[in-house]
Amino acid sequence: MGVQLSHVEHIGIAVSNLEESIKFYEEVLGLTCYSVEEVKEQKVKTAFFKLGQVKIELLESTDPEGPIAKFIEKRGQGVHHLAFAVDDIQGALEELDQKGVTLIDKTPRKGAEKLDIAFLHPKSTHGVLMEICTHT
Ligand code: ZN
Repeated sequence: MGVQLSHVEHIGIAVSNLEESIKFYEEVLGLTCYSVEEVKEQKVKTAFFKLGQVKIELLESTDPEGPIAKFIEKRGQGVHHLAFAVDDIQGALEELDQKGVTLIDKTPRKGAEKLDIAFLHPKSTHGVLMEICTHT
């Protein structure tokens, strides 16, 4: 059985300069940025693109001590997380917890794009920072 994931909601990519990255995604890849949003709680500014059903979320840190700044410092720019949509985020978190997955967020918090989100620790997901999310 396992958690009922409905689809890949977005791919989160850490960038050091949002404006320059938006340019690349638009001018080289031909995508259109449809939203730029700051998520103060997570100390990030985000830019969203859509490709089919999957979104690409670019994340730029707004604080040198923020998680995205730390990530880039350690590993450079690149893929940061993979987000899966679920219908019942609280139920999914409980099931993951029961199955021994380390939850970064035990209860959902607010993300960009009017999503409730929760992160799973990469140490317990075979190396990928995973986010599960649901529309509020
Ligand atoms: Zn995300």
